[in-house]
Amino acid sequence: MTVQALEKHTPMMQQYLKLKAQHPEELLFYRMGDFYELFYDDAKRASQLLDISLTKRGSSGGEPIPMAGVPYHAVEGYLAKLVQLGEPVAICEQIGDPATSKGPVERQVVRIVTPGTVSDEALLSERVDNLVAALTCDNDQFGFATLDITSGRFVLTEPTTYEQMQAELQRTQPVELLYPEDFPYPDLLSVSRGARRRPIWEFDLDTARSQLTGQFGTRDLVGFGVEDCSLGLSAAGCVLQYAKETQRTALPHIRAIVKDQQDSSVVLDAATRRNLEITQNLAGGTDNTLAEVLDQTTTPMGSRLLKRWLHQPLRDRQVLNQRLDAIGTLLDNSLYTDLSDALKPVGDIERVLARLAMRSARPRDMAKLRTALAQLPEVQTLLTELDHSAFSDHQKATTPMPELHDLLTRAVVDNPPVVIRDGGVIAPGYNAELDEWRDLSEGASRYLEELENREREQHGIDTLKVGYNQVHGFYIQISRAQSDRVPAHYIRRQTLKNAERYIIPELKEHEDKVLSSRSNALALEKRLWDELFDQLLPHLARLQQASEALSALDVLCNLAERADSLNYHRPTLTEQPGIDIEAGRHPVVEQVMTDPFIPNPITLNPERRMLIITGPNMGGKSTYMRQTALITLLSHIGAYVPAEHATIGPIDRIFTRIGASDDLASGRSTFMVEMTETANILHNATANSLVLMDEIGRGTSTYDGLSLAWASAEWLAEKIHAMTLFATHYFELTELPGQMEGLVNVHLDAMEHGDEIAFMHAVQEGAASKSYGLAVASLAGVPKPVIRRAKHKLAQLEQSGQHTANTEQSVGKITPTQLPLLPEPSELDHAIDALNPDEMTPRQALDALYALKALQQSR
Ligand code: ADP
Repeated sequence: MTVQALEKHTPMMQQYLKLKAQHPEELLFYRMGDFYELFYDDAKRASQLLDISLTKRGSSGGEPIPMAGVPYHAVEGYLAKLVQLGEPVAICEQIGDPATSKGPVERQVVRIVTPGTVSDEALLSERVDNLVAALTCDNDQFGFATLDITSGRFVLTEPTTYEQMQAELQRTQPVELLYPEDFPYPDLLSVSRGARRRPIWEFDLDTARSQLTGQFGTRDLVGFGVEDCSLGLSAAGCVLQYAKETQRTALPHIRAIVKDQQDSSVVLDAATRRNLEITQNLAGGTDNTLAEVLDQTTTPMGSRLLKRWLHQPLRDRQVLNQRLDAIGTLLDNSLYTDLSDALKPVGDIERVLARLAMRSARPRDMAKLRTALAQLPEVQTLLTELDHSAFSDHQKATTPMPELHDLLTRAVVDNPPVVIRDGGVIAPGYNAELDEWRDLSEGASRYLEELENREREQHGIDTLKVGYNQVHGFYIQISRAQSDRVPAHYIRRQTLKNAERYIIPELKEHEDKVLSSRSNALALEKRLWDELFDQLLPHLARLQQASEALSALDVLCNLAERADSLNYHRPTLTEQPGIDIEAGRHPVVEQVMTDPFIPNPITLNPERRMLIITGPNMGGKSTYMRQTALITLLSHIGAYVPAEHATIGPIDRIFTRIGASDDLASGRSTFMVEMTETANILHNATANSLVLMDEIGRGTSTYDGLSLAWASAEWLAEKIHAMTLFATHYFELTELPGQMEGLVNVHLDAMEHGDEIAFMHAVQEGAASKSYGLAVASLAGVPKPVIRRAKHKLAQLEQSGQHTANTEQSVGKITPTQLPLLPEPSELDHAIDALNPDEMTPRQALDALYALKALQQSR
């Protein structure tokens, strides 16, 4: 807007427009008295998003100004809604003093609320990480950084392929994703609802280095092991600048950046993460997921940590064994319930500490921190009792901090109010001067009672009351009926319907004293509150370490409890390649079933590296394959597993190609998705990968599908040597084990009783003998006549030897002849063909109709 255009507006609107010009992307919440107001397009947008009414405010520059507003005390609720919708908001406060300001009070944007950078309790989901991320790329190499502002966790990675980048986005699910304006892969951005374009210079490497070293107070970044990660650092620099820009305050809790090494974790690609339904089911919800079964943590920060573990299984056996030792010790001592009870009151201090660091902690945060600190001695006692080296780091980190607990006990009242604004937070006895001011203001109210009694008696006015309101200060109120008794020195201030209000000089004098002692008390209280931050912040690092250890203990107790309640056992992690599971179960399916779950074994090793799994639909093939992947995954987070025994060798990646889901959003058909996922597996799997292939080749014609399935199986077995579970409905593939080393047939069986079918769910060696397709269709409620017709058709096909892969009666081979496209004509068809209505008399037509009906009934 030009200066001239600006000059047409009122001074206040000029101020508004200047601020708005600096925040074109955000909704500007402009503080006016008790409201945050929005104007122009912001007002229109907010009124739609928040369902608030759109009004007009006078006019400025000759035009009425659209306006919408929300009361300041209810702003949290509105912000929560906007954050959920992914809308950034700039909060503009009055910072000048209205009494001394000429023209509009000075205002400033004090913070920007965005989905990825919020830290207020009310705006966050408790049990889910809230990340802001940035990504950048150069010649198909990527740089990616995530920051959790509510904990200070700052991580960078450098994915080397598009698929890896996609997998990282799927794993971290950032609520806000920053990308350079020339970013060439728009598809990648669709993961996050909060994708935000940033100028290229925010990704500048030199700026990133100076921002990061400035933040960590170091000379260089060598100590963090990220010195050479130029792409990762560019992304990290952008994230950090964004965090600072939005918070507009120091962020001392962000004290380091770590590099995520791809080769230290078991890699799960995006499709696998989805298919295994780790924290999200295929429908996008959280029901019937691995996390739902496993997560009984007592603190929200524990819940978030567990999910991070589940999404990033590790390969370091030492770390995993330490976790397994810890769980074992908790189980042996039966102490997990006690420890978990001790952890419960700790709550979410991780996020409390972030708010402390940003100096936005509320009085109740301080109370929470105090409660958490109060638990440390008991946690120590229990860890000492456990007496195992697996807990030594936790024990060190949770050393009690009596001085801080004592400080908070002395400083903050038991049940503090929500905000510091009206005082009442600092405890009596903490500061002598504060106590004095408070006594004065309270002594004042005793004085008021005395004054009231005295005046009432002296003048014989029994309706006389002393009161106070914001506008008129102290007053003496007398009912209208008794107003004739009012003494002459009373000065009338206000007339109400049934009463009059007066002041007297003595009361006025008193008012000044009270008000000044109250405001002195409040000012002092605010100062003491600020000083409390200064006293606590030097201990931030120690507190953060304690919080991390407490989260980890919560997860370990939780895993011990789950192991005990759900009958899980400790897996053995070995160097020998292979997977050997006895009586394995599917952790989620066994929970949702009312019938007992049938445990199954599995053995995979270099000599037996691919299982061709056949059996009827609904027989349990998918369940069997997924349970193998989930048991392998659980072993690699260091958890006990749903199996009697499990010995798991080194695993670098888990791949799954399961189920068919059209990726309509990106315009890819089911078959295209299936083949893209297959291509990814065939390119990236290694001999140490666990590969699950379910019904590959379904989305195309029988011959194409079978050929692709065959060739993929051969490739995996011969070239890659991956440990593979290959479920298929092509019986032809059961011949592969006869032709190649290392392949074995297994099947899931069923039994038929007349029209009924019973699935055994037990895995047997050898290929299935039947597919039971018609029995399953019948079970699914396909109409009886259709089933009868299908049986008829099947018999015909078998006679003519034209059946395809999956026959009802026996394992067969495809013959090169194509299936007839139309069913063969029946007797009824022939009879209808023979009719010629034009040449029939009505009588002949009626006879023919009866004949056709009889023919149909005879079938
Ligand atoms: P498929 O992949 O062969 O079509 P699924 O693995 O989807 O079959 O299993 C179908 C259903 O059978 C599951 O939803 C579950 O209810 C049941 N089921 C599978 N495996 C077992 C098992 N081992 N024990 C008991 N029930 C099972």
